[in-house]
Amino acid sequence: MARSFGQLAKKAERDSGCLSVSKDPTKKPELKIHTLGDNVLRKPAKRISKVDSSIRDLVKKMLHSMYSAKGIGLAAPQVGIHKQLLVIDLDIENAANPPLVLINPEITDFSASIETYEEGCLSIPGVYLNVIRPSTIKVNFRDERGRPKKINADGLLSRCIQHEMDHLNGVLFVDRVTNQEDLNKELETHGFNNRDVISME
Ligand SMILES: [Zn+2]
Repeated sequence: MARSFGQLAKKAERDSGCLSVSKDPTKKPELKIHTLGDNVLRKPAKRISKVDSSIRDLVKKMLHSMYSAKGIGLAAPQVGIHKQLLVIDLDIENAANPPLVLINPEITDFSASIETYEEGCLSIPGVYLNVIRPSTIKVNFRDERGRPKKINADGLLSRCIQHEMDHLNGVLFVDRVTNQEDLNKELETHGFNNRDVISME
């Protein structure tokens, strides 16, 4: 069993190219995740002009923080770095599933159809609330090697990319929650203050 797990990890390493990051959540991460009320989360991120080894180092550290917190997505501003960089992994229990790295992502199109889905955020731990967003999106970005990529995303991937891209503009999912009563109750339960929400209503 240990051996087959090792093979899976090797395959994940091959698939993700230069990224080999353990998904083991027990290791202590270097980058701390900031939480609601912290102003760093409200500052917009800048485009990355060159995808080099320092960016790939940052990606690895972000993945480490994300896996340690058992999250499926993390944006650089959440660890206090204002660069347009996201990491996503919708299958964190599966070592063979490579993470997705989006650098300078741009949504080029989104569907007219909308969906309501319950979101959570590593920067607002414990809080889960419904958010309405377009169902599908088209996104242009660069990967961890600087190669231009395009994807059409739907379902959880579409949801996760939209949520993480909001972080690049200093927007948090609680800003988009339409049910104020649920919002206030949920924030209070988990020790957050509704004065830190910047409503988009
Ligand atoms: Zn988030």
